[in-house]
Amino acid sequence: MRRAILPGSTGADGRPATLGVMGGGQLGRMFVQAAQAMGYFTAVLDPDPTSPAGLVAHYHVEAGYLDEQGLAQLMQRCAAITVEFENVPAAALLTLGAHRPVSPGADAVALCQHRAAEKAQFARAGVPCAPYARIETDADLDRVDAALFPAILKTSTLGYDGKGQVAVDTPAALAEAWAALARVPCVLEKKLALAAEVSVIVARDAGGAEVVFPLQRNWHRDGILAVTEVPARGVAPALAERAVAAARAVAASMDYVGVLCVEFFVLADGTLAANEMAPRPHNSGHYTIDACDVSQFDLQVRTTAGLPLVAPRLHSPALMLNLLGDLWFDAAGAERTPPWGAVLALPGAHLHLYGKASPRRGRKMGHLTVTAAEADAAREVAAQAAALLGLPPLPDA
Ligand code: ADP
Ligand code: MG
Repeated sequence: MRRAILPGSTGADGRPATLGVMGGGQLGRMFVQAAQAMGYFTAVLDPDPTSPAGLVAHYHVEAGYLDEQGLAQLMQRCAAITVEFENVPAAALLTLGAHRPVSPGADAVALCQHRAAEKAQFARAGVPCAPYARIETDADLDRVDAALFPAILKTSTLGYDGKGQVAVDTPAALAEAWAALARVPCVLEKKLALAAEVSVIVARDAGGAEVVFPLQRNWHRDGILAVTEVPARGVAPALAERAVAAARAVAASMDYVGVLCVEFFVLADGTLAANEMAPRPHNSGHYTIDACDVSQFDLQVRTTAGLPLVAPRLHSPALMLNLLGDLWFDAAGAERTPPWGAVLALPGAHLHLYGKASPRRGRKMGHLTVTAAEADAAREVAAQAAALLGLPPLPDA
């Protein structure tokens, strides 16, 4: 077992224990904030001088992810390193991993960068996913089983928030859809009739100890997460147990170390299909900051530093609303500040803004978590917040 990097300790070089994160987005920012609360120093590597995490970390290494000097600086500062987005080049993690504990490791991150590799890993873990075919050559187009249609064509790499996806209703439309995605390697997935979407967040340490958060129920708008609710409304306990067991199996099958989120589709007959996974905390787990005694970011700090894992406890039902840049524009398209005063007058409203200077439509600017003693009360207050902000009504369970 690796030695823990204890909070507030100093290394052999006399420096305060410092944890590093590859990537400076909002996930990195919330990791940094959790690490700082425990007394760690923090360092972020991100080329953007105004990155949300770089703005709040003790050290910001402004460099590209493959920049050798930048990586050397990060290693020099940090006793251990984690990642905040899955597209960190595996080569950078291999370089860092040769000198420092890096979790999750390069292999797991590389796997999560590729949809087909992810699906193969789900299969190895005995977890079903939607029927699919790899589309990488012209010959693949002709081989596709007609039973896959209607389908969704997704780029194998670099897709997020519904980007890099095209609906393909018939076999005849496939070639054109692939051309629209520049004929990069893709997977063609059967379009499933979804009864619900849920996700499970697991934290696992190097000794194989695992803890999980309660299952979340998620609703998307335009391919972007819009609402998360816990406890997962309308999801039977037996189904939740199966999803949790599946997520654990996936983490164990990769000998994963870190925080992992597995997203699932729930079908009308109650069966589960794994959709995708993220080798890091996840947008659907942001509620854990305010509704659990230990958040997904606290657990990322613990897995990164080699500290003991403790099972998180949901102390309050919660509903999370994503705050996209759209809210920063009025009906006439003029920029505005959303009505935070009125929103913060609501009981149990917790506002998190990520410090991004320029709002853009579809850009994740922050999130609002509403906690309450009862799930219905959290939903009612969240509905009021949504109305104040000009968001669509909350989705029904
Ligand atoms: P991203 O990486 O952009 O999150 P996903 O594969 O998770 O991509 O797709 C985004 C959303 O699109 C999903 O959360 C779901 O709502 C919908 N979706 C994706 N694949 C399917 C599918 N095979 N059947 C039905 N809906 C799907
Ligand atoms: Mg997704």
